[in-house]
Amino acid sequence: MSLKTLQDLLDEGVDGRHVLVRSDFNVPLNDAGEITDPGRITASLPTIQALVDGGAKVILSAHLGRPKGEANPKYSLAPVAEALSDALGQWVALAGDVTGEDAHERANGLTEGDVMLVENVRFDPRETAKDEAERGAFADELAALAADDGAFVSDGFGVVHREQASVYDVAKRLPAYAGKLVEKEVTVLEKTATDPEHPYVVVLGGSKVSDKLGVIEALAGKADKLIIGGGMCYTFLAAQGYNTQKSLLQEEMIDTCKDLLDRFGDKLVLPVDLLAAAEFSADAENRVVALAGIPEGWLSPDIGPESVREFAEVLSTAKTIFWNGPMGVFEMAPFAKGTEGVAQAIIDATADNGAFSVVGGGDSAASVRALGLDEDGFSHISTGGGASLEFLEGKELPGVAVLNQ
Ligand code: ADP
Ligand code: MG
Repeated sequence: MSLKTLQDLLDEGVDGRHVLVRSDFNVPLNDAGEITDPGRITASLPTIQALVDGGAKVILSAHLGRPKGEANPKYSLAPVAEALSDALGQWVALAGDVTGEDAHERANGLTEGDVMLVENVRFDPRETAKDEAERGAFADELAALAADDGAFVSDGFGVVHREQASVYDVAKRLPAYAGKLVEKEVTVLEKTATDPEHPYVVVLGGSKVSDKLGVIEALAGKADKLIIGGGMCYTFLAAQGYNTQKSLLQEEMIDTCKDLLDRFGDKLVLPVDLLAAAEFSADAENRVVALAGIPEGWLSPDIGPESVREFAEVLSTAKTIFWNGPMGVFEMAPFAKGTEGVAQAIIDATADNGAFSVVGGGDSAASVRALGLDEDGFSHISTGGGASLEFLEGKELPGVAVLNQ
């Protein structure tokens, strides 16, 4: 099995052909609707530029947020179209609909090297329908945008683990290729998944505890150490009998955590101290406490400094590192030290120990940029959190499998 790639398509020739591209433009927006982290847009540019240079008529598709199957201006791709226009140095028109009349007229009107964007694919409920026929009908409409001699390029790595119309079903309806981003992600993650150099240290944090418990199970056999911080760790601490007070907790997962501790206790590395805060607010009173010392009614928004030292020690010997999930609520400056310290330790291990380091996860990647850390200090920053986790768990990603020939 090998992936059909953008290079294969460019070798066939794209001059004058419509090429439908599924990108990942699911960027964070602030209340004013401004893009706060353009990482995913930047990452999408090489594929788009290569198609433009080849003379393709480029039609971009993507989702933004969760508009739940109906058109909603709050989730319009308008800010993305603007950012793309700036980044590419050419006008990127946004269609007023996804596969409606406006999208079709604009697609028909493209000339060589033009780029357009259709509206948020999740404005259409069929995009994420469970029913294959419903998704298929929508995928037919998307494929029709690319006309008779068209092609499909899948470049939204953040969504390839989803069986969705614009990712998966459309790839069965047009000649389909992996974009540069998807190709690079798959190459890097394949190496990490199948042949990691040891010691292999996995760092898990973030807020989606139940999502990530499966990863621990799957990676425990492969990794030498699993460091657990962030919102994930409190359910483990509760399983060890600590009172985590108002910290993030998934009560129904406590037994699962107990079981994981029993089975993989020697591999799991948990915090040894915590930051505690009186409230979930940047200006709340806060102090470093022992695991058993979160004051009544307080919560823990970050790991403590001794935990950072211990985690850094483990990381300093690693030859392969995969990091998913911030160690604390890094969005608030007083709670960012854990994430910053661990990220720096990974950068140091990469530079000093020659470790191969991969960052996966939208918020983890955003934290690197938000904290002003050197993105080039990591071997690879993945644009797909869920997708990279599923890949490392050894699951087949439908949006990648469909590109194999
Ligand atoms: P990623 O996108 O990298 O996979 P997640 O989406 O799982 O990461 O989690 C990111 C979020 O986790 C961040 O917004 C961060 O504020 C939150 N988080 C981290 N630590 C804590 C904590 N101790 N309490 C509450 N939220 C936390
Ligand atoms: Mg996230």
